[in-house]
Amino acid sequence: MLPSFFESVLQLIVRTSTDLPPDVRAAMKTALHGEPEGTRASQALTIIAQNIDLAVDNEGAICQDTGMPTFEVKTPVGANQIWMRRQIREAVAEATRRGKLRPNSVDSITGKNSGDNLGPGTPIVHFDQWEKDEIEIRLILKGGGCENTNAQYAVPVELPHLGRADRTLDGVRKCILHAVWQAQGKGCSPGAVGVCVGGDRTSGYLHAKEQLFRPLDDVNADPRLAELEASIMSTVNDLEIGPMGFGGKVTLIGCKIGALNRLPASFFVSVAYDCWAFRRLGVVLDASTGAIDRWLYRDPAHPIIPMLDQAGFTRTGREVALEAPLSEADVRALKVGDVVMISGRMFTGRDAVHSHLMKHEPPVDMRGSVLYHCGPVVVKEGDGWRVTAAGPTTSIREEPYQGEIIKRYGVRAVIGKGGMGAKTLAAMKDHGAVYLNAIGGAAQFYARAIKKVADVSLMEFGTPEAMWHLEVEDFPAIVTMDAHGNSLHKDIEQESGQHLETIGV
Ligand code: SF4
Repeated sequence: MLPSFFESVLQLIVRTSTDLPPDVRAAMKTALHGEPEGTRASQALTIIAQNIDLAVDNEGAICQDTGMPTFEVKTPVGANQIWMRRQIREAVAEATRRGKLRPNSVDSITGKNSGDNLGPGTPIVHFDQWEKDEIEIRLILKGGGCENTNAQYAVPVELPHLGRADRTLDGVRKCILHAVWQAQGKGCSPGAVGVCVGGDRTSGYLHAKEQLFRPLDDVNADPRLAELEASIMSTVNDLEIGPMGFGGKVTLIGCKIGALNRLPASFFVSVAYDCWAFRRLGVVLDASTGAIDRWLYRDPAHPIIPMLDQAGFTRTGREVALEAPLSEADVRALKVGDVVMISGRMFTGRDAVHSHLMKHEPPVDMRGSVLYHCGPVVVKEGDGWRVTAAGPTTSIREEPYQGEIIKRYGVRAVIGKGGMGAKTLAAMKDHGAVYLNAIGGAAQFYARAIKKVADVSLMEFGTPEAMWHLEVEDFPAIVTMDAHGNSLHKDIEQESGQHLETIGV
């Protein structure tokens, strides 16, 4: 068979997970320069930029959610695709063993993690034949936070703030704007959208995701869609959702639109939202050896240009130092917009932990605790553990449980991304707690703030879902929901809704 095929696919996976392509880097650099210094948006982008640099330096995962591996493979006529699929699966398992991919594939009924990113439907591999004598493999790693913000519209449809979207390109424009507005910061903005006009419900989503394989700086071959892409990009940032939904000038770094024929009775607009951690790369392989002939999206003649000239979180001097465990007075003194630097002990907990805590006592004393919505990448080292990637996960999933957990167990701070809803906000006010927004995807940056893994509980839930006891130092985050009933997320959603009414007409 092809002696270098496995190694080539492994290299592709590792590089995709750890090194953003130049077009995404360029767009993020432009975004960085677009936000005024000292603003929340600028601080968020500085952390993101530093994280991008750290990931390359350490060959570590850019984001701890290494996403759903989706391969698009083109092979010469007659190539053995069954063998290739097996090799790709083995390469995915090997990259997981090496900590370049987090074990991310869970049984949908039992919730059990397969541990190697293999299982029914994981990874996704699409094959196509072409009449060239070479093999092309493209890979995208798209995480759950942004996947959850995808949207599909059956038009005509009435949209909040925008009125009716008809079966026209203007109706498509409204759907795209609505999807971006609805996503707020939950998909780790600034993001990019791939869009499909038409198709059916399944082919529409697939084609929308395929648009994300286009370079951000290309121009659509269809002038009607090129015009629509340009129109979206020229207005969408006026929504002022900004990085992480903190408010700001950059909400989207790309919009790529394709179209498929549809049935006369259906008109779907499918929107695939990808986060700033827009990990996609590709390789062209020699069809007789499987060795990498060239990379796609990257020009090897041009070395990687660092995102930042200097490392380090830019302090303004107004940061509030907090030492966990926290008192009620500590958190009641905080208000929306404060930047905090946390040191001391924090516990991770995401879906499985929250569900567990609704039925069982916690395995640790959580009074005064900081609960971090995070599913880290952790590697075993001797008798201990080391966290190699640890950014926040989307918090809104825990909305049904969070208020009750704060009340029952005395949690004082919840760290996550994207904010939470009215029930949690009310519990924070009643019982004295705050929500701290960390920068989504900044997995390498936050891993450096973790000085030690002190212990782990509930390991039966698997690595990402276990409750890790972490010792942290100067872990930065922004208060976006305080103990006085204020929520930056609610405010930005309302304000951007008003902007949507202006730009949507
Ligand atoms: S950057 Fe955010 S949305 Fe993207 S994969 Fe990471 S956590 Fe998920």
